[in-house]
Amino acid sequence: MKKNVSECPICLDCNAQEYSHDKFRKYLTCSHCELIFVPRDQLITTEAEKHRYDSHQNDENDLHYKNYLMQMMNQIIPELQEQEVGLDFGCGRTDLLSQLFRDKNFEMDSFDLYFLADSKIWAKKYHFIILSEVIEHLRDPLAELEKLRRLLLPNGKIFIKTKLHPEDKSLFDNWFYKRDSTHIQFFNSKSLKVLGSKIDMSGPQIRSEDLAFFTASSI
Ligand SMILES: [Zn+2]
Repeated sequence: MKKNVSECPICLDCNAQEYSHDKFRKYLTCSHCELIFVPRDQLITTEAEKHRYDSHQNDENDLHYKNYLMQMMNQIIPELQEQEVGLDFGCGRTDLLSQLFRDKNFEMDSFDLYFLADSKIWAKKYHFIILSEVIEHLRDPLAELEKLRRLLLPNGKIFIKTKLHPEDKSLFDNWFYKRDSTHIQFFNSKSLKVLGSKIDMSGPQIRSEDLAFFTASSI
């Protein structure tokens, strides 16, 4: 059965209303969880998506990118115990974040659907999973997060780095983050909270303007 294109991809509510549009696509807002999302009949093809990722500049010799990852890692490490095992989900072309965590004595795997699709992760368990600039791209974010949730050990954490959408519509209309055609949903703290409850995790605990995490129960 074909899904309703205006169904909210987080809470599955079907009462989303048009919020904004530009010359490329529409943006709907979910009255229940406040997610803003692109209706699923207006997404670019997976081939065009891959082409865009190929042109992204993030490689491991880029000092700016390395500093960006180190800054995020330094916000995450205080939430971890020594020697915990992590997963960088949606790492892109390089496993640089895992290398940086390994330098700090954390074991870490990397996975990327397009660049590093190593299926061994689905048979493993992790203390923490990082989605850095990933969740805004996922075509079915709830299903992906449910799958990742099952990989967590008790008290495990999922860290999500994504820019929260401005509450002011005129700011959203001109927001640089929505101009990336591969960004298809935008959260605020309420939509993150609804996502957390959907996957049976507490949170979000907000660590900075674009980093939050959920915690699994100890059972
Ligand atoms: Zn919703």
